[in-house]
Amino acid sequence: MFQHQTQQNQTIDLPLGKVVCVGRNYAEHAKELGNEIPDAPILFIKPATSVVSLESGFTIPQDQGSVHHEAEIALLINKEVNNISASDAWDYVSHVTVALDLTLRDVQAKLKEKSHPWEIAKGFDGACPLGKWVAVSELSNKECIAIELYKNGEQKQKGDSTQMITSIPDLIAYISTIFTLQPGDVILTGTPAGVGPLRSGDELKAVLDNQFSFHANVM
Ligand code: ZN
Repeated sequence: MFQHQTQQNQTIDLPLGKVVCVGRNYAEHAKELGNEIPDAPILFIKPATSVVSLESGFTIPQDQGSVHHEAEIALLINKEVNNISASDAWDYVSHVTVALDLTLRDVQAKLKEKSHPWEIAKGFDGACPLGKWVAVSELSNKECIAIELYKNGEQKQKGDSTQMITSIPDLIAYISTIFTLQPGDVILTGTPAGVGPLRSGDELKAVLDNQFSFHANVM
């Protein structure tokens, strides 16, 4: 059973809940997949069963075409809330980390062709490797959170939260008009450009806020 943990290996006493994700929240990423920029956030949910520890290493499906990494800033909700205003949104977030929104890109392309939901491509067991959490108070500036992903030593993704189409507070506010957020729920805030395929044996490093490092092996 997955347990939320801090970077100092302390258990966070919140149950793992749903993972609410947003698609196409960085213009450059929408462009690289040939997608239009949406006029409202595109939301989808990964079930709690998709979450695994990032730093423990994770497996990827081997027989379903390409598996893409989407490195994303993740938020941990610590109080139940709905219909919140953007100005209060940070009060409901205790921690931040890096998550991978693993995506079966070939499967997703076929689903998109048929206008079907994406769940099979994004909600499978193991589809959400989630890092150990950093307290919001430890960030250098929560209004500009940087994220980078390196694969086998090469930088693949780089962005920061000021490049988001929908900002973190606006995103939390919007989500809370649709889904009640509960303690232990996670929000994934979208991926910057540079997504690409993973293979077993890849070594990943993510950096959050230019100071917190996460290492993971793809098995
Ligand atoms: Zn994503």
